Amino acid sequence: MESAAHVALISSPGMGHLFPALELATRLSTHHRLTVTVFIVPSHSSSAENKVIATAQAAGLFTVVELPPADMSDVTESSIVGRLAITMRRHVPIFRSAVSAMTSPPSVLIADIFAVESFAVADEFDMAKYTFVASNAWFLAVMVYAQVWDREIVGQYVDQKEPLQIPGCEPVRPCDVIDPLLDRTELQYSEILKLGMGIASSDGVLVNTWDELQHRTLASLNDRYLLGKISPPVYSIGPIVRQPGSKKGGSSELFNWLSKQPSESVIYVSFGSGGTLSFEQMTEVAHGLEMSKQRFVWVVRAPKVRSDGAYFTTGDGSEEQSSAKFLPEGFLERTSEVGFVVSMWADQTAVLGSPAVGGFFTHSGWNSALEGITNGVPMVVWPLYAEQRLNATMLAEEIGVAVRSKELPTKALIEREEIAAMVRKIMVEEDDEGKAIRAKAKELQRSAEKALAEGGSSYHNFARVVKLFGC
Ligand code: UDP
Repeated sequence: MESAAHVALISSPGMGHLFPALELATRLSTHHRLTVTVFIVPSHSSSAENKVIATAQAAGLFTVVELPPADMSDVTESSIVGRLAITMRRHVPIFRSAVSAMTSPPSVLIADIFAVESFAVADEFDMAKYTFVASNAWFLAVMVYAQVWDREIVGQYVDQKEPLQIPGCEPVRPCDVIDPLLDRTELQYSEILKLGMGIASSDGVLVNTWDELQHRTLASLNDRYLLGKISPPVYSIGPIVRQPGSKKGGSSELFNWLSKQPSESVIYVSFGSGGTLSFEQMTEVAHGLEMSKQRFVWVVRAPKVRSDGAYFTTGDGSEEQSSAKFLPEGFLERTSEVGFVVSMWADQTAVLGSPAVGGFFTHSGWNSALEGITNGVPMVVWPLYAEQRLNATMLAEEIGVAVRSKELPTKALIEREEIAAMVRKIMVEEDDEGKAIRAKAKELQRSAEKALAEGGSSYHNFARVVKLFGC
C-alpha cells in the first residue's frame, strides 16, 4: 500500500554519509511504511561503496537513484569539505532534472548537511525541507552557531585563549574546533558557514543521537531563548546504526578467527573510512598493540601524510597488497596467534557485533562511535579529522566511555607505551577508571536500546517527525 508521503533523501559522497542515509531510509520505509527515494552522489572511487549501493538496490525496500557525476575538472580545491561542498552544489541542477523526471515528485526532502543547497529544488517543487545530521547534537550546535562566532570573534578560533561559547551547550576548546573552521581564510571555512545557514533554513533537523545522551545540548537547540533562536526544531532520532553486511557476519577467515576467540577478548582497531596514520605512528600502534598483550583485529591502510588521506579511496583494492608491508618487521609473525590484520576495509558492524570483541580503538567518527556504543564496548578514541576531536572530548571527558592519549594524535607522535596502557585500561585493568569505563559502555548500550524501543525518546521523536511529513 502506498503511503501519503513520498520522502526523498539526498546523500553526499563518503561512507560516513551514505551508511546512515541508507539506514534512515530503511527505517522510514520499514518501520513507518513510507515511500522513499534515496538520491546518492557517489564518490566513484570505492569498491566498498559500489557494493553498498548495489546491496541497497537489490534489497528493494526503497528506490535508489545514483546521480550522474558533475563536471569537477576545473576544481583545484583540495580540502575534503571544500570539495564536498562544490560537488554537492554542482549536483543541484542534476538533482533538479532527476526530480522533474519523476511521475510523482516527493513531498519531503531530507538532505544531509552537505546537500542543503538542494533545498532550492525542494522550494520549487513545494517539498518540506529537513536536514539529517549523521553526527551528534554538539556538532550540530557548532554548525548553526558558527555564523555568530564569525561575527563576534576576532582572529583564528584556534588562537583564542578561552573556550568558545555556545548558549546552553558545553563550550568548545579552541583545540577541538572542527577542521573546516580552523583557518578562517580557507574556502572550506566559508563553505561550512553557508552549510550552517542552509541547515538553519530547513523546517526541521533530524540528528543521530538520543535525548538521554545529549539532553542539555538538545534542550538548548530547541529553546527559543537559546539556540532555538537560530535553529529550526531539532529531533533526536538515533542511534541510527547500520546492520552488519551479512547476517553471519561474513564467512571470511576473519570471522572464523573471531569465532574462536574468548568472549570480549579482542580489541578492534580501525580509523574509519578515511583515516590514515603516518608511517612512524603506524609503527608505534603496532608495537603498542603487541606490548598490550591483547588480542586484536586491525584494519590497516598504507600510511599517508594527511590524516584523512583515504577519504575517497576506501577499499578500491589497489592498496590491498601494500598495506601490510608498512608494518614493523616480524610484527605479523610475532602476533599471528593473537592478532588479525585486515587490509583497507572490514565489515565493521559485524566485527563489533562479534561476542569476541570487547574494545574499540577508533578515530571517533560519529558512526563508529555509535556502533561502539550500541555494541556496549569501551573505546580508545584517536581523533584524526573533521569533527572527531569534539566527539573524542565528549566520549572520553564528558560521558566517560573512552580513554584518549594525552596529546592529540594529529599534533604529536603517540608512543607505544602510552598506546599499550590505553588498550590495557579498557580491556583488562581492574583499576577504578577502567572498571568505570567498561560499566559506562554497558550502561550506554542499554540507554540506546531504550531510546529506540517503543515509548523511548527517539521512538517518540521519529513518530512526531513522520506525522509532520503528512502521514
Ligand atoms: N566502516 C566499515 N569498515 C571499515 C571502515 C569503516 O564498515 O573498514 C564503516 C563504519 O562502520 C562506519 C563508516 O564506515 O559506519 C565510517 O563512518 P564514521 O562516521 O565512523 O567515520 P568517517 O569514515 O566518516 O570518518
